[in-house]
Amino acid sequence: MLVDLHSHTTKSDGTFTPKELLDRAKEKGLKVISITDHDCVDGLDEANVYAKEIGLELVNGIEFSTEYLENEIHILGYFIDYKNEKLKDLLYELKNERLIRAKKIIEKLAKYKVIITMDDILKHVEKDLISRSHIANAIMDKGYCYDKGDVFKQYLGIHGVAYIPKKVLTPVEAVKIIKEVGGVASLAHPKYIELGGEKMRNFIEILKGAGLDAIECNYPSFSDTETKWFTELAEEYQLLITGGSDFHGGNRAGVELGDAGLTIEQFNKLKDLL
Ligand code: AMP
Ligand code: MN
Ligand code: MN
Ligand code: MN
Repeated sequence: MLVDLHSHTTKSDGTFTPKELLDRAKEKGLKVISITDHDCVDGLDEANVYAKEIGLELVNGIEFSTEYLENEIHILGYFIDYKNEKLKDLLYELKNERLIRAKKIIEKLAKYKVIITMDDILKHVEKDLISRSHIANAIMDKGYCYDKGDVFKQYLGIHGVAYIPKKVLTPVEAVKIIKEVGGVASLAHPKYIELGGEKMRNFIEILKGAGLDAIECNYPSFSDTETKWFTELAEEYQLLITGGSDFHGGNRAGVELGDAGLTIEQFNKLKDLL
């Protein structure tokens, strides 16, 4: 795989700066990389300049958090015009929602005797995008938990006691804004969507109607059977496939750049959509 279309930097919840991430991609022998920070495009200016310098093809990307029938759905956008004013305004609003949610989570955690402050969280945040991953780091720092998975299970995950939903886009809204800014939209890691066969098909049909272009079929934790299943589903709906590692650096143990992705040939099919 020479193309990795899913990665996070310090601008969202990764531990590599955009430059460090591109260096790593180069080291790993990748030809194309996409930075897909959560609800954020802040790393892309710097990354574009540096990618040119080191001769790596960079796809301007984003990963929107959305919600549908109590499922957290992530929508990936590629080749986006990340300087679009409407997109900028929307991302500003989403960031603010994250701040509001973090404050509520702090209050709720305190009810369960888990005491952390905004400063504890901000130590893990490079700029201003607060992710639950950063909140989890703060909880672990304070010694309340030693395993990130446990932090989500007990506190921050959808069934955790301090779970607070944030106002998010619907998947259809995310697909539409991606299309509006000239991008290619893909449904991220579909394995983690708990909708069941028929509802899942229905959901994909709705997204397809909104302009969805692809499904992320290649992903590190997918078995061959799962990849095959999603690839067939994509074919059924005349969608293309995307793939990537979802690299988060130290914030996701055991996942390396290039662990999943696309061949150049598969990637070119996405480009042909532009
Ligand atoms: P947010 O964007 O603030 O809703 O936080 C979502 C992020 O939290 C994901 O992108 C992951 O980085 C992290 N996350 C969610 N669930 C888990 C989990 N069970 N274990 C570790 N990290 C998680
Ligand atoms: Mn993440
Ligand atoms: Mn995701
Ligand atoms: Mn991701």
